[in-house]
Amino acid sequence: MTETALVWLRRDLRLADNPALRAALDAGFAPQLVYIDDPEGEGGWPLGAASRAWLRRSLAELAEAVASRGGRLLLEQGDSLTILRGLAGELEAGAVYWNRRYEPAVIERDQAVKQALRGDGLEARSFNAALLREPWTISTQQGGPYKVFTPYWRRVQADLDEVSPPCAAPRELPPSKLEGRSLDDILPLPSPRWDRGFWEHHRPGEAAAHSRMEAFFEDIDDYPEGRDRPDLTATSRLSPHLAFGEISPRQILHALREDSPANEEARQHFIRELGWREFSYHLLFHFPECTDADLTSSLKGFDWAEVDEDSLEAWRRGRTGIPIVDAGMRELWATGTMHNRVRMIVASLLTKNLRYHWLHGARWFWNTLVDADLANNTQGWQWSAGTGADAAPYFRIFNPVSQGERHDPDGAYVKRWVPELQAMPLRHLQQPWTQPDALARCGDYPAEPLVDLKSTREAALAAYKASRS
Ligand SMILES: Cc1cc2nc3c(=O)[nH]c(=O)nc-3n(C[C@H](O)[C@H](O)[C@H](O)COP(=O)(O)OP(=O)(O)OC[C@H]3O[C@@H](n4cnc5c(N)ncnc54)[C@H](O)[C@@H]3O)c2cc1C
Repeated sequence: MTETALVWLRRDLRLADNPALRAALDAGFAPQLVYIDDPEGEGGWPLGAASRAWLRRSLAELAEAVASRGGRLLLEQGDSLTILRGLAGELEAGAVYWNRRYEPAVIERDQAVKQALRGDGLEARSFNAALLREPWTISTQQGGPYKVFTPYWRRVQADLDEVSPPCAAPRELPPSKLEGRSLDDILPLPSPRWDRGFWEHHRPGEAAAHSRMEAFFEDIDDYPEGRDRPDLTATSRLSPHLAFGEISPRQILHALREDSPANEEARQHFIRELGWREFSYHLLFHFPECTDADLTSSLKGFDWAEVDEDSLEAWRRGRTGIPIVDAGMRELWATGTMHNRVRMIVASLLTKNLRYHWLHGARWFWNTLVDADLANNTQGWQWSAGTGADAAPYFRIFNPVSQGERHDPDGAYVKRWVPELQAMPLRHLQQPWTQPDALARCGDYPAEPLVDLKSTREAALAAYKASRS
């Protein structure tokens, strides 16, 4: 009888280009796929509610794909090591394989798991499924980690041709003698069903990830021009698929080279964005404390404002009275995602005009984003706040009015997510408070902005100056 290897799936919810699964098959094992819901193993950042809603659907898709090949995806919940040991015993498995993750608490947990399983006499091996280059494989000439994107990316790009081609999905998987738990049991449907609207915008799972990539490649030439326009759908919208590993950057890179009609500028620009994701992981790995603390000391001693719960709630719910901010926060609530440009605008308002520490924003995003990714979310917030490596300096404060006018020139994005402003003339749309009569006819949209943009900007700059001196 063929010996079993457990293949422990985590953020690699796919069958193609799954190195742990491929290695188990190549080594002659009968792979048993298992997903373990283990929130405690994630340290201070267990998956948020929106991501769990995505995860449920992604697992359902994967279970179906596994079943169609003759196998079964086992679902379990609890402490990872205890469950892996139990399953290895029941199945008399000889090995446990998995793909690596890079979040600090998870690294610690995984190292303990590896050591314990090896102590039990099992073969325990891990692989790279998520990155083009793992963080410890590149360093500066001085031997340390990179802190600036451009030289980092130049270094990674130099070897991109060496990234191995993706490996194929198995055509068949062996049957399983175990049942595991049900999806409803480990990931019950949200109640009430606040996630319903999400699925008008997204389809989780490996097959959908590939369809999304192919659809994006059709129009990829518009990416460099259109990527900053939230009113258009010019970006790939692959982020939740990448966050759950339904598709790998290696597969995207390969498809971009082999199958896409992209012109060179579009191709390079898009690969560079994947580079920002790689850079976030590089920083997360080398500076693990950055998930909860400023990465640089640029704002050491800064006078962050005490949080006013009502103001924070107005920001969260898209009731600030600043249309582009409200549009973004409502898009997030309704769809589980937000356009990158608008993420930067809402983050600037929170960390600069309101002067709240970036963690308040990062925590809200973590709970509401379907693409929540600890590396990207941490760096996105630290970059916006001015505390990150290679970040926008604190004194660069976005003006949401001019940002809205520039990046949503026809007002279509604002009008989509803030329908109260449907009748507001375009020239006033991004600052409706200047037209009290017209605004009075816009339902219950706030009559005044939550903050005075000019005076809060000045106060933020003064606080910044004071912290420097
Ligand atoms: C405050 C803030 C928080 C963020 N939180 C997250 C998060 O939790 N998860 C997340 O995946 N991204 C996050 N980002 C980065 C970025 O906004 C999203 O990756 C992007 O909007 C996803 O849309 P897309 O897939 O259409 O991107 P595309 O433009 O099509 O880019 C392709 C892929 O490249 C990567 N990428 C693009 N831009 C960035 C970037 N600036 N930093 C890192 N990777 C990038 C993503 O994996 C993305 O899917 C955040 C940005 C900010 C400013």
